[in-house]
Amino acid sequence: MKLVTFTRDQAAEIGVVVDHTTIVPLGNVAPDMIALIADWDNARPKVEALAAARLETVNIASVRLLAPVPRPGKIFAIGLNYADHVAETGMQTPSNQIWFTKASTSVNGPYDPVQIPRGSLMTDYEIELVAVIGNGGRHISKDDAAAHVFGYCVGNDVTERAWQMRNTQFCLGKSFDTHAPFGPWITTSDAAGDIHELGIRCFVNGDERQSSNTRHLIFNLWEQVAELSQAMTLEPGDVIFSGTPGGVGMAMKPMTMLKAGDVVRGEVDGLGHIEASFVAE
Ligand code: ZN
Repeated sequence: MKLVTFTRDQAAEIGVVVDHTTIVPLGNVAPDMIALIADWDNARPKVEALAAARLETVNIASVRLLAPVPRPGKIFAIGLNYADHVAETGMQTPSNQIWFTKASTSVNGPYDPVQIPRGSLMTDYEIELVAVIGNGGRHISKDDAAAHVFGYCVGNDVTERAWQMRNTQFCLGKSFDTHAPFGPWITTSDAAGDIHELGIRCFVNGDERQSSNTRHLIFNLWEQVAELSQAMTLEPGDVIFSGTPGGVGMAMKPMTMLKAGDVVRGEVDGLGHIEASFVAE
């Protein structure tokens, strides 16, 4: 199943995508995506019935898609988690998972413009597989982790490199407004296939910059969920950016950062794509 958050007028609504072009609104099932996820066992049969009945439909081209979880409780992202990305940064392969946060206010819609911050010369892209937590909890084992992931999206861990690298804490450089676009929808876990066998690609102005496969994750998603949940309670709708493969602009020779007018597209097999025009703040 593919679940979206969208706006027709002003208010955000949730819906299920019943083919590539049609949304069935789910406003009667839950008020927003986090509520839907939290109540999924109860809500799922209702969603399936509405999707089959198609009593109300909306053309997906006529709405604006928001990030499927517009305001997650937490956004965590892992650094240095593909071997080729580790190599291009000249860093050592980490023996422990390297986690940082992205502010919940950095969320952006899958096709909305992304800001190049005022004064920035070092805005970069990182296309990633994104996981959305379903049943949360504490001390989730690797073996149980898959059952705690509600679904998957494509994301761009947009990074302001100057702010990332000027001290040892990544948080500010990763948290500028609009710098966490993801979507275009949540593909539920049962429909996503083997999540560790998916091609992942990034294109800037049509040129392929990143091309890898999620099988090359150093710490896979189950290890990530286990590690995070040792420290904190994961909750429905929490978002995990699972790492970016090689090919980021900072590692190009010469280094090539994004500029106003660039268009960045991210794809993960079976999960759709996101695409953003970069604009000056
Ligand atoms: Zn990243």
